[in-house]
Amino acid sequence: MIIKLKRNPKEEEVENLRRWIEGRGIEVMTSVGANITILGLVGDTTKLDIDLLKTMSIVEDVKRIQEPYKAVNRRFHPEDTVITLEDGTKIGGDNFTMIAGPCSVESEEQVIEIARRVKNAGANILRGGAFKPRTSPYSFQGMGTDGLELLLKAKKETGLPIVSEVMDASQLQYFKDVDILQVGARNMQNFHLLKEVGKLDKPVLLKRGLSATYEEWLMSAEYIMSGGNKNVILCERGIRTFETKTRNTLDISAIPVLKSETHLPIIADPSHATGTRRLVEPLAKAAVAAGAHGVMIEVHNNPEGALCDGPQSLDPEQFDGIAEKLKKLRKTIEEIG
Ligand code: PEP
Ligand code: MN
Repeated sequence: MIIKLKRNPKEEEVENLRRWIEGRGIEVMTSVGANITILGLVGDTTKLDIDLLKTMSIVEDVKRIQEPYKAVNRRFHPEDTVITLEDGTKIGGDNFTMIAGPCSVESEEQVIEIARRVKNAGANILRGGAFKPRTSPYSFQGMGTDGLELLLKAKKETGLPIVSEVMDASQLQYFKDVDILQVGARNMQNFHLLKEVGKLDKPVLLKRGLSATYEEWLMSAEYIMSGGNKNVILCERGIRTFETKTRNTLDISAIPVLKSETHLPIIADPSHATGTRRLVEPLAKAAVAAGAHGVMIEVHNNPEGALCDGPQSLDPEQFDGIAEKLKKLRKTIEEIG
């Protein structure tokens, strides 16, 4: 971090600031020029409040030259993180992960049929919401703990690991046998929830907030990792832009940018990004071409009758076709480099 001081600062004030910074365990290199005095800070500046520094009377400007995140930063962890689930399924690195399943668990028949179909198509993880964050309080809110029970039944039937959204820390007690905890877009900055899942060693699928910057998203991952949980998967699910034709805008740039910023796996969710069934395939392909470690796609055995997100859900035949194409595309991308 570099601090530029205002012209002709009083020596005593510079000394006070220096001592204040050094008191936080950071080394200060002072460079005094004819017109300008610069303080170069060496050490862990992640805990320094940049806005507070900017308000100090002798400070003209402050610039970070290192990112405010450490645990998620590729600079300090050059190797890709590979997360291994209990059944041996790996996420990240050279592994390609296909997560598929309904937006919401609705019944035993529904979730088990979908689980069987997506498994046959090559999906390696089953998704299904039991606690649903809906925009309207009058919409279907999910089956809650009964939904989780059904998801566990589908796991038992098919052997697929499962991922489901936890909306509040008080629900964590019900997720003991769930393989991956999903923290949804609306909860990306629920810092209490992030801290609680950070105390566990269960993998967390952290969706990008509706209007979160890369830095904000990575800082949320940092919350989880700084609590001790190293198993974080990032999910780009589209952000809110001025465009209204699609539900959200899939930010493809997030994939290569975050792959260089962080060692964590990053997957794409083209279903929530588009809100439209026919757009899922082209955007899933785009995400794979951009280097995503996987995709998460909503699949329903009767999309027209779905209680949640039917218009963006594929039927199992459509998922068969897409899964086949994505596997081929992934191979081609690996070949061409
Ligand atoms: C979901 O995956 O069903 C979901 C609600 O996603 P998001 O948090 O991305 O809206
Ligand atoms: Mn959904």
